[in-house]
Amino acid sequence: METILTGIRVNGELTLGNFLGALVPMVRLANKHNKTHNINIFIPDLHTIISNVDGDLQKNLVKSIKYYLAAGLEITDNVHIYRQSYVPAHSELNWILNCVASVGELKRMTQYKEKGEGKDSVNAGIFDYPVLMAADILLYDATYVPVGEDQFQHLELTRNLAIRVNNRFDQKIFTPPAKTSDQAKFMGVNDGIRIRDLTNPEKKMSKSTPSENSKIMLSDDPKRAAKKIMSATTDSEANIKFDMFNQPGISNLLQIESLVNDIPLQDVISTWSGESRYGDLKKKVASSVQTFLESFQEKLENIPDDDVYKLLEKGEIYANKVANQKLLTVQRAFNLRQY
Ligand code: ATP
Ligand code: MG
Repeated sequence: METILTGIRVNGELTLGNFLGALVPMVRLANKHNKTHNINIFIPDLHTIISNVDGDLQKNLVKSIKYYLAAGLEITDNVHIYRQSYVPAHSELNWILNCVASVGELKRMTQYKEKGEGKDSVNAGIFDYPVLMAADILLYDATYVPVGEDQFQHLELTRNLAIRVNNRFDQKIFTPPAKTSDQAKFMGVNDGIRIRDLTNPEKKMSKSTPSENSKIMLSDDPKRAAKKIMSATTDSEANIKFDMFNQPGISNLLQIESLVNDIPLQDVISTWSGESRYGDLKKKVASSVQTFLESFQEKLENIPDDDVYKLLEKGEIYANKVANQKLLTVQRAFNLRQY
């Protein structure tokens, strides 16, 4: 059985954009394949401490998993949720792969160049984390790893390391993950959804935008969120049309209406096209967002922490078993273990 693997970044707060653009598509993907594939969902806590030590890490990781559950992630026997640091094989394999990867290829990683190179003080974690990421993937023979474009280079590195080890020992030790082009095909990703900033719809909605009216957070008071929609920037065309380029504000509202209600965009467009009263559309979208948030927040509150911990304990037993088996194969090849 092939494995789809994804890391849940531990973010305390998510915007509606993060939810609709990243979390929901992942949940759909998992639910679609959970009978035929292993679905490995892990909390990359070792990656988290690269930037800083988050006092709320424990709280936030539980919350992140609840987001997935509240978004409808189905738990079947093939779904495995685990914390990276609870599976020590990740850091063990990281070390072994450090002795395979070259400094030159790691220096070429654009993420490192952007975040680290040239700065006076960077920890080695920022330089080395692509190798840890390779370990995260290769321990489970994961074929599909849904990542954003910014991570494609790391996925290529993972493939290269896997192939290099296999060639060195002339054995199929690792399964190289699928090429990024094949990954995209498998996942049927469209060009990605980009929810726009409510007050400045030329830009995408981002959690780091300081303006509160620009973004809707999943934790927003639903009534307050509705008000934000009512005051969203539109245009003066007085003609509802889906045209992200010329009318991004109105198009964004149509997009949100479609996504929070899970109805095809095309249907929303045909309902509203040609209407001139933006106020009517805003009222409808505001009410949809409010209803969506009320229901989502209620679901979230009704998931006990204990449910999450039970999933983790079960997932970690599975993950340790699979990962340790792979690690042993690698240790044998590197002569760290006797046959
Ligand atoms: P930041 O402002 O800190 O960059 P962000 O809101 O852009 O935060 P990220 O943590 O950079 O969020 O991205 C998390 C995930 O959410 C990524 O998969 C990203 O593609 C997706 N995402 C971010 N913003 C949007 C958006 N406006 N619409 C759809 N998806 C989004
Ligand atoms: Mg971002």
